Amino acid sequence: MTERNTGRRHRAANDDEPAGEAIRATTGRQPRPVQRAIFDKKTIALVYDFDGTLSPKPMQEYTFLPKIGEDPKAFWAEANRLSREQGADPLITYMHLMYRKAKAKGIRVDREELIALGRDVELYPGVESWFDDIDEYVRLRAESHGVTLRHYLVSSGLKEIIEGTRIRSRFHNVFASEYWFDAYDLPYPKRVITDTGKTQYLFRINKGVENLGESINEHMPEDARPVPFSNMIYFGDGDTDVPSMAVTRKNGGYAIAVHPSGKNRSKCVELFRAGRCDFFAPADYRRGSDLFKRTCLLLDRILADIRVREEMWRLDRSSRT
Ligand SMILES: [Mg+2]
Repeated sequence: MTERNTGRRHRAANDDEPAGEAIRATTGRQPRPVQRAIFDKKTIALVYDFDGTLSPKPMQEYTFLPKIGEDPKAFWAEANRLSREQGADPLITYMHLMYRKAKAKGIRVDREELIALGRDVELYPGVESWFDDIDEYVRLRAESHGVTLRHYLVSSGLKEIIEGTRIRSRFHNVFASEYWFDAYDLPYPKRVITDTGKTQYLFRINKGVENLGESINEHMPEDARPVPFSNMIYFGDGDTDVPSMAVTRKNGGYAIAVHPSGKNRSKCVELFRAGRCDFFAPADYRRGSDLFKRTCLLLDRILADIRVREEMWRLDRSSRT
């Protein structure tokens, strides 16, 4: 059921728009909407934050910081202080500081090593079985031919570390901050995904423009967008997810906030009361958990919505002939 990223160019489910591809290839412009022979808005996207959502702690605390002998609390305090003092972006500051500290200690951490460190990242209970369980649920409940489920990761964390985790292959695509390893003496931030910057990737999923070399800003009519926001659920854990939750929900999609099991849920309650998320639940991804059940409820609604819109599309089509 899950459609994984095979390195091919991403295309919509049941894609039948070769004309559009040709137009884009020759002029660089987005295709005009074409009358499609099938209803093709059947791709559901579950989009996850990583740190605090799929994993209890920021990924650097399992990997990079122990490697260079840094105490996480002291490191983040220093990074935050520096960013405040310098008026610098907090993400660029931490990315730079990590390597400055490694260099000061004479420790070299290259791309391969970061990937290897990703194996030590802890995941919340049930995360590893979640993807198969949710895929199975959608397969059993779809009641419509051609429904596709994709999982995406949009994280301010480091792409290299995520690549080393056991769940990397579960994602159709991973958008995360990234280093340039060759160009400079110290690895240099190549892509930095901030809280608000995350929303760009939601629109990339929505518009099917996942190739980062392509601009996302060109207008695309709703009808031409392969993954409507109403087919999307965003999973996050806190304030850094507010822009993504707001964009998803304002455009007709859904958001779920998670908190550590049995621990402080006040941030989730705050998000829920402020209308940032549809549901919140402990970050327990095992089948039958509250998170599992609430996600399935939203999936039921999305699947029903797909059937309703497909029927309308059919009726509209037949009424024109
Ligand atoms: Mg987070």
